Amino acid sequence: MKFGGTSVGDGACIARAAQIARDAAREFDVVVVVSAMGGVTNRLIAAAEQAESGNREQAGEVFAGLRKQHETALASLLPQAEKHSRVAAALDAIFREGERLCEGTALLRELTPRTRDAISSLGERLSAPMVSAAIGELGAATESVEATELIATDEFHGGAEPLMDRTRAHSESRLRPLLEKGAIPVVTGFIGATEEGVLTTLGRGGSDYSATILGAALNADEIIIWTDVEGVLSADPRLVPDARTIPEISYREAAELAYFGAKVLHPKTLRAVAHAGIPVWIRNSFAPEKLGTKITPQGLSNGGGVKALTAIRDVSLIAVGGPGIVGVPDVVGRTFSTTADVRANVLLISQSSSQNDICFIVASSDAKRTVDALRKEFARDVANEKVEHITLDPTIAIVAVVGENMRGIPGVAGRTFSALGRANVNIVAIAQGSSECNISFVVAEKDVKAALDATHREFGLSVQKASESPVTASHD
Ligand code: ADP
Ligand code: ASP
Ligand code: MG
Repeated sequence: MKFGGTSVGDGACIARAAQIARDAAREFDVVVVVSAMGGVTNRLIAAAEQAESGNREQAGEVFAGLRKQHETALASLLPQAEKHSRVAAALDAIFREGERLCEGTALLRELTPRTRDAISSLGERLSAPMVSAAIGELGAATESVEATELIATDEFHGGAEPLMDRTRAHSESRLRPLLEKGAIPVVTGFIGATEEGVLTTLGRGGSDYSATILGAALNADEIIIWTDVEGVLSADPRLVPDARTIPEISYREAAELAYFGAKVLHPKTLRAVAHAGIPVWIRNSFAPEKLGTKITPQGLSNGGGVKALTAIRDVSLIAVGGPGIVGVPDVVGRTFSTTADVRANVLLISQSSSQNDICFIVASSDAKRTVDALRKEFARDVANEKVEHITLDPTIAIVAVVGENMRGIPGVAGRTFSALGRANVNIVAIAQGSSECNISFVVAEKDVKAALDATHREFGLSVQKASESPVTASHD
């Protein structure tokens, strides 16, 4: 079971999460994976960046605020002085470590990826002992475990990949004995460690991935991701208020939604369970009586093709082109070797048939680095006027229409674009993979909501389809 940031957002939430884990553990072996308390990771990163700029005081203020927030939650969870001071001392040691890391950063005025990982991981290292203590208060045996002991990764700080064989061995030797004696391990999400024991993080929002990595490592029967919404919805409920829960969805569809920005799942989450076929539930920790969404290898047909919509906003469109590139045969190759060299994740590619423009989309955080590298790569061609422009447009967004059964259903693209036309949404670029599991298109950022509303309505996504029989939950 993984509990996200809002599900452990304050003392009351932690108590609720503890109760959910405790109840499940009466019937099953349960391993808990926790995120940092909501908003904490952002603030830790802000502190690290303040330290990098030499602003010790501001970094210190962030830490003072975080200490207070954790102390308030802990005080409500552990009223008894002795227990409270034991956990408070453990948290204090973690805070002091963080403060020292920030001092060092401020001194050097340098924030390396390794230090950034060490600082941003503190939130999970703080929440795990608190959740474990809350489970202990309910009378269950429990132990807080740092995932540096379990999840072995490569050395790519900020987006490390798990090494599954080692992770499996560590999880068996460290977690299995706890489960066998009836204890509930509470593991820090988001983090792992290299072979040398250096802490790494799996990428922002990576606790979902931690849960499936550990679920796969331990051959779990199921993985439950507890969050603040009732499962995977037909669109982001913050943008489309009448979005509704999809009872069952395939790995493929869920991965596509996550990849194209549905924050409810980290994009890599399903990778870890792809071989094992373990069902992954997305459920609401604030309404545990609801079933939520079951993600299975096959999913469940809704008979209607489109299942859900999603959008990514923090992206930028980069175009390389001009009529002259027709005569430069390796422009495509060089463009994408360059994006690979700077490790920019390319989310969508579109090339016009006249070949005078290649445009692609990367996360805005990768955009400047990518454009700088492209300008360097093509400097000579630009000087010779073979490549006329390398441009960057940060005011766009990608919207994706997703559904495995869109395959073979003609007219989905037509209906999508007619609906957008009626809503006066201008389309900047279009891409459809050969899998036909999604159609994605680029619109101005200001048009995202209108695009989602129009397509949500067009495909009747707020209405339950008769073919969607309710699923059953084995844990209910
Ligand atoms: P957690 O802290 O539990 O990991 P996140 O904030 O990372 O939670 O993810 C949950 C949020 O994802 C929801 O509150 C919702 O706003 C957002 N979201 C975006 N798209 C979807 C979608 N299609 N279905 C459900 N939630 C979505
Ligand atoms: N706390 C981490 C983050 O905010 C990981 C997670 O919540 O999944 O990115
Ligand atoms: Mg999340």
